[in-house]
Amino acid sequence: MKSTAYLWNEIYLQHETGPFHPEKPKRLSAINRVVKKADWYNDLLMVKPVLPELEHIESIHSKEYISRVKKTVEKGKKYLDSPDTAICEKSYEVALYAVGGALGVCDMVMKGEAKNGFCAVRPPGHHAEYDYAAGFCLFNNIAIAARYIQREYGVKKIAIVDWDVHHGNGTQHSFESDNSILFISLHQYPHYPGTGSKDETGKGKGEGFTLNIPMHAGSDDVDYMNAFKRLIIPALNKFEPEVILISAGFDGHFSDPLSSIDLSTDAYYEFTKLIMDTACKHSQERIIAFLEGGYNLTALADSVEKVIGALSGY
Ligand SMILES: [Zn+2]
Repeated sequence: MKSTAYLWNEIYLQHETGPFHPEKPKRLSAINRVVKKADWYNDLLMVKPVLPELEHIESIHSKEYISRVKKTVEKGKKYLDSPDTAICEKSYEVALYAVGGALGVCDMVMKGEAKNGFCAVRPPGHHAEYDYAAGFCLFNNIAIAARYIQREYGVKKIAIVDWDVHHGNGTQHSFESDNSILFISLHQYPHYPGTGSKDETGKGKGEGFTLNIPMHAGSDDVDYMNAFKRLIIPALNKFEPEVILISAGFDGHFSDPLSSIDLSTDAYYEFTKLIMDTACKHSQERIIAFLEGGYNLTALADSVEKVIGALSGY
């Protein structure tokens, strides 16, 4: 039986955001501490990140933006584009390694070396736009990965399920005119970043390939499972994706400081299992999850452990 690829590396701790920023290196340390204790840890395929070719990042971001990220970091600035997105002298390099590591996981899954994969990377990506940084995100890891899989492996249809508590504005905008990528986001609404109303359904030939599911503050496991069963799973079954990518944020957990959604730790296990059932039917089991948010360290680490456990078949 093939195993789950797990991307985690100390390089990702080097993106320092200051003592009061919620998106801090301790998030990844907490994850790895819990994951290492799991029964299935020794079955995971470890992934060593390498630097990516810039052309892959240029499929989603402008050259001007990529060079601006590099220059802003080199100038020793404390943030990029807005005070939300804190940076340090290593941030450009770490953000490159986040992309490079994630593309490595894509290779392992697409070549059949791994059954599926989890990318425990930072900085996160789903708020990053074509030409500006937002919401703690520098490069849009999952969007770059989706285009990479299409181009390198001749895959036509990819679905992205974004269960981070915030709307994945950058990912939506990358693909809203594209009918080859189905983007599904469920998120607290209204909330940061302000986009993600259910009326945003795609543009031009991408009309109908963006599915936003706004959730009221106070929504819980039952509300989310209803959304999965009534909307998300039917949409995936209709689209028949060849690969499913997940923007796995854990800031919808009831103990998270940045939201008012009331999900339990076990909810993330159930979401993963539901997506796995669909991936079994249409996608040769190919699922790659990318870490986005999640700011209560205990809830984050325990929830990631649930998702990797599910992906590993436990
Ligand atoms: Zn988030």
